[in-house]
Amino acid sequence: MILDGRKISKKITEEVKSKVESLDKKPGLALIYIGKDESSKVYSKMIVKKAKSVGFNIETVIEETMDQESILDKIESFNKSDLIHGIIVQFPLPKDIDEEKVRNAIDYRKDVDSAGVINTGNLYLGNDAFIPCTPKAMTRILEEYNLDNEGSKVVIVGRSNVVGKPLYECLNRKNMTVTICHSRTKNLREHTLDADIVCTAVGKRNIISSDDVSRNCVVIDAGINVEADGMYGDVDYVSLENHVSWITPVPGGVGPVTTAILLENTLEAYYKNEA
Ligand code: NAP
Repeated sequence: MILDGRKISKKITEEVKSKVESLDKKPGLALIYIGKDESSKVYSKMIVKKAKSVGFNIETVIEETMDQESILDKIESFNKSDLIHGIIVQFPLPKDIDEEKVRNAIDYRKDVDSAGVINTGNLYLGNDAFIPCTPKAMTRILEEYNLDNEGSKVVIVGRSNVVGKPLYECLNRKNMTVTICHSRTKNLREHTLDADIVCTAVGKRNIISSDDVSRNCVVIDAGINVEADGMYGDVDYVSLENHVSWITPVPGGVGPVTTAILLENTLEAYYKNEA
């Protein structure tokens, strides 16, 4: 059966919108995208549209190139602005930019996608922290379908700082038993066949097919692979669709929930900082 990300996204977005309607001041989100990738530009514009639709104040810096000092200046002005509560920078930045500097220039109280070390550290310490939007979205999908059971065996394929590692912590907090696999994992299938839930964040197509997972498995696919004929996830959806118990489609799975979580995190920043 399909885990419907669009439906969850709509629910979260409507909840955010109704909360915003009761506020005197608008929550504000600043988005920075520097680069030439067309699909990232489209994604940035989609965030802008969605943020406006829930009544947010939105400021953007969308440029093909920008030097590091100018990016840091923009972040500093958003850090100081009373109208901005959340700041998201789209990574990767162009190669000549020091990403670490940019990540940590964002005031941690406005770091709604948990780019910097303060939120990252607090997440792993079990403290209050902004949780990065994609792993939070993957966790929310499991919650919405009551699939977030304690003790479940989860295999995460991919160990990036932005998805795999924070997802580990999100599911660990739920008392699931989590294994992380990666490009050096020997015999990936041995791990995935034994899993109740398989989560992928790899960026390669067909990494998992019906031979790799059990029939009761739940598959959460964060992969985005853009090809000439469309967008695909990491897993072989066609072979898995009627094999596993639950699966997220791509598009229409993790992606739309991630955008909605960004709005939710920005509202959380608003409550924390305006209170
Ligand atoms: P990344 O930083 O490139 O990390 C990819 C991970 O996959 C690495 O840990 C790598 O292992 C592992 N890997 C590569 N080949 C493998 C293989 N053959 N078997 C097992 N593991 C393998 O990527 P990312 O930033 O996490 O993004 C992953 C995917 O998620 C991309 O398609 C991206 O577009 C998508 N994404 C989606 C969203 C969303 O909202 N839906 C958000 C962010 C990213 P090593 O560590 O050993 O190299």
